[in-house]
Amino acid sequence: MAKKTLADYQAKRDFRRTPEPTGEGPGPSGAPIFVVQKHDASRLHYDFRLEVDGVLKSWAIPKGPSTDPKEKRLAVPTEDHPLAYAGFEGVIPEGYGAGTVLVWDTGPFLNLTEKKGVAIPLHEAVAHGHVKVWLEGQKLKGGYALTRFKTGKDEAWLLVKADDEAADPQADPVKTRPESVLSGRTLEEID
Ligand code: MN
Repeated sequence: MAKKTLADYQAKRDFRRTPEPTGEGPGPSGAPIFVVQKHDASRLHYDFRLEVDGVLKSWAIPKGPSTDPKEKRLAVPTEDHPLAYAGFEGVIPEGYGAGTVLVWDTGPFLNLTEKKGVAIPLHEAVAHGHVKVWLEGQKLKGGYALTRFKTGKDEAWLLVKADDEAADPQADPVKTRPESVLSGRTLEEID
């Protein structure tokens, strides 16, 4: 399954040139993880990824995640990435996605999605366009909802913080904590 969904990812990249993972590595290891990567591509954005059935389901978030439940952040789906991508930090050379990537946040997460009061698996939640997760990151904690509001070729979702004890309308981690949680480096310090 993972192989098939990584076909887009692999077709877009020349692995003789980019240091990004090929997707041929080992499969899932334990508790599912999420990762948010800050990516200084042609336009700066944050890639939000959730481990689902052995791959990383991915959305590009131009403004990055918020800790304010009143903020709706646009999230545009991108191709599935290999699990190994969660640890990728470095510079993508000229070509697809060129620019610097750092691991802005990562940690385990729980799927809290329900349909009519019954828990449903994450792949179903993604297919239905409504996903509720509980994040245990270093910067992002607590509930988040991802909701699809547009389908088709301009498919688009919103990422919104749940109004729970981890919500904080004042905090703005995208601004105040720009560094990598893996290396402590900022984009400028990665080469
Ligand atoms: Mn990206």
